[in-house]
Amino acid sequence: MTKTKKIAILPGDGIGKEVVAEGVRVLETLREVRGYPLELVHFDLGADRYLRDGITFPDDARGVMEHECDAILLGALGDPRVPSNVHARDILFGLRFGLDLYCNVRPVICLHDRLMPLKGRTSKDCNFVVFRENTEGIYVSIGGHFKKGTPDEIAINEDINTRKGVERICRAAFDYAVAHGRRRMHVVDKSNAMAQAHELWKRCFFEIAREYPQIESRHQFVDAFCMNVVRDPSQFDVVVTCNLFGDIITDLGAALQGGLGMAASMNARPHGVALFEPVHGSAPDIAGKGLANPLATVLTIGMMMTRLGFTGEEQRLTEIVRASIEAGICTRDVGGTAGTREVGEFVCARIRG
Ligand code: ATP
Repeated sequence: MTKTKKIAILPGDGIGKEVVAEGVRVLETLREVRGYPLELVHFDLGADRYLRDGITFPDDARGVMEHECDAILLGALGDPRVPSNVHARDILFGLRFGLDLYCNVRPVICLHDRLMPLKGRTSKDCNFVVFRENTEGIYVSIGGHFKKGTPDEIAINEDINTRKGVERICRAAFDYAVAHGRRRMHVVDKSNAMAQAHELWKRCFFEIAREYPQIESRHQFVDAFCMNVVRDPSQFDVVVTCNLFGDIITDLGAALQGGLGMAASMNARPHGVALFEPVHGSAPDIAGKGLANPLATVLTIGMMMTRLGFTGEEQRLTEIVRASIEAGICTRDVGGTAGTREVGEFVCARIRG
């Protein structure tokens, strides 16, 4: 019998709470209908908790997630009532850096022709996966100000790229390509301008590429990538890139999928607990109105099911999401009129068959 899989639930802030509420219903329906041994562990963390008692990310919560859980479902973090966003930084970086989740995997897959914004292209033209390095780059927060607040002010953020960090994300991307029958890999960098840091990326990538002769390995500068992905996304299959560029190009990618409400992600390392989150933020402008699209969360749960070993479920959930778009039972950001709850109900009803 499969061991019970423990899933930490962190709704977070804003629309995170709304989409995770639907995500929880989806998980409970999967448990009930398919008999998956899932245990959900709810955590009260986010802006409300911080404003109530000053707690951001306590060690005991982190310990439970790291040592007892198999997966974490996170909604989104960020609240205008906490201008410093200290809670968001502590929780998100505490998980990504603290658990060394160095692979941020973001599929850029357009599921329906109606969502494809490019003239002359269909949904079939957009199906690639971005591997974003998740623990280095400019996100390490090393830097400082000099003469702050004066006309001579200097502000510095260091960009950290280690051989170990670059190597392991490249290898993870190649391993994924092999395991998923993907044939082409691009490294996206700015090695012409960042002659040291991104030269390391390019050199390391092509060294590792020699171990994967079955994969066609290519290079693009990030500016060229941005132009080419809009001109013809079908040339991309798997893309590996640094933390900052991964952040930027996956928002561009989300626009090719139908928007942030359709973009899923996983933060992982080869073994241990992995963190799953829809790519979008807490969207304070639409929070609490029932307008948030929960489909990115449903797709994210699909990725989680694969990681937990429930094979076939990701494909089934993806088909349900496609059906929601097809039937127009979706939120207004993807052309429907339904509310968050209604879309969640549609997904659960389809799981029930
Ligand atoms: P962050 O800085 O936390 O990444 P962001 O500034 O990228 O956040 P988001 O909160 O992700 O912004 O959202 C940007 C806009 O996209 C929102 O204001 C909202 O209108 C829209 N949006 C994002 N996610 C969704 C969603 N799930 N459903 C509907 N609209 C969404």
